[in-house]
Amino acid sequence: MNTPDAPNLASRVDDYDPQSMTVAQARTFIAGHLKPVDGTMRVPLRSALNRFLAEDILSPVDVPAHINAAMDGYAVRFADLAADGETALVVGTTVLAGSARPEPLSPGQAARIMTGAPIPENADTVVMQEQARRDGDRVWIQPGQHAGQHVRLAGEDLHRGATALRRGHRLRAAELGLIASLGIGEVSVFRPLRVAFFSTGDELASIGQPLADGQIYDSNRYTLFGMLAAEGFDCFDLGVVRDHPVAIENAFEEAARMADVVITSGGVSVGEADFIKPLLARMGEVVFWKIAMKPGRPLAYGRLGTSHFFGLPGNPVAVMVTFYAFVRDALLALAGANPPAVVPRLTVRTTTPLKKAPGRTEFQRGIVSQDAQGAWTVRSTGNQGSGILRSMTEANCFIVLPQDIGSVPAGAEVEVQLFEGLI
Ligand code: AMP
Ligand code: MG
Repeated sequence: MNTPDAPNLASRVDDYDPQSMTVAQARTFIAGHLKPVDGTMRVPLRSALNRFLAEDILSPVDVPAHINAAMDGYAVRFADLAADGETALVVGTTVLAGSARPEPLSPGQAARIMTGAPIPENADTVVMQEQARRDGDRVWIQPGQHAGQHVRLAGEDLHRGATALRRGHRLRAAELGLIASLGIGEVSVFRPLRVAFFSTGDELASIGQPLADGQIYDSNRYTLFGMLAAEGFDCFDLGVVRDHPVAIENAFEEAARMADVVITSGGVSVGEADFIKPLLARMGEVVFWKIAMKPGRPLAYGRLGTSHFFGLPGNPVAVMVTFYAFVRDALLALAGANPPAVVPRLTVRTTTPLKKAPGRTEFQRGIVSQDAQGAWTVRSTGNQGSGILRSMTEANCFIVLPQDIGSVPAGAEVEVQLFEGLI
């Protein structure tokens, strides 16, 4: 990883100003420092679910292996068919899916054939059974057939030696099926990304402890666990760390030793950051940004030893918003994803007015639903305070409002990013 020092930064990002970074600038900067983890493993196909391929998968066979029927019906020689009027053919064998390749068709013959069954030599066309009338050992074929119809050619999906999947492709259900269809039972994948995280704050208590006066339960470690585990990363929860230099230094050292990525929540806002800045400067290189976004203004990013570091704000909603705005895509790239994951944004009308001041990109919480006319619209979850985690549980999308705009009236179009597929 290149070091994110300021001179280097200035040459990479236009208008670099740590006091005011746009969401896009911060993403671009982070993206410049990511390369997949070293370390791959060969695993049985099912264990590869959700992992990223560390090799190209080449097809060892033609898919399909043989020319075969795409419909139930009759395999015929197109040249035998009359251009106008019905044609009578003699039905020879019946070929089922899984049958060996049958005898070649002689002129004037048809073979009864089922979907997926190999087509006899000399046959070039399949007539669907609805367009054929069977009468004893004869079949009458309707006119209007097309040469080569309803036939799947050998190698039509994939030729032997062709690339079926590329390195970096995430293996989901379809990919497991595709690899299985090639007869491959083991694949090489990137090892899971190791992510350690802890919460900072004297006000935090862990579940199971009594709450002292002024304390709150630490929720961020649970949210972080949920977001990280959902991507298949190996998670190391290092607990709550007091706002104390020695305790924090020890936690950073332990985290950086065990993980590829260290994530903290809390302690990066102005004032609090002054406390950990010199400490992190000793351990690696970290930049502290004020991002022009809401929620989630303070963010730290850099390197601790050989580990990547993300310092997220403490507010529970800000943790989730900054995770999805910056961290998730970065972690996927480190885990081996190529091309990068793209979460689409859709444009819908808002049925509620959305309050906003120009100057920051806002990730408001919204609920997309279908109105009585069948159109998809979005409405606000209400209070957008960055501590209100309930807004994330009620929402099914972020309403992403661009930096420069102000309040949005009801009825206007806005961009939304659905949680489904993202989370
Ligand atoms: P900070 O960024 O540390 O100033 O924290 C901002 C706000 O988020 C404060 O109200 C904290 O109490 C709250 N907060 C910080 N960390 C956590 C946590 N792990 N769980 C719940 N709330 C937190
Ligand atoms: Mg704090």
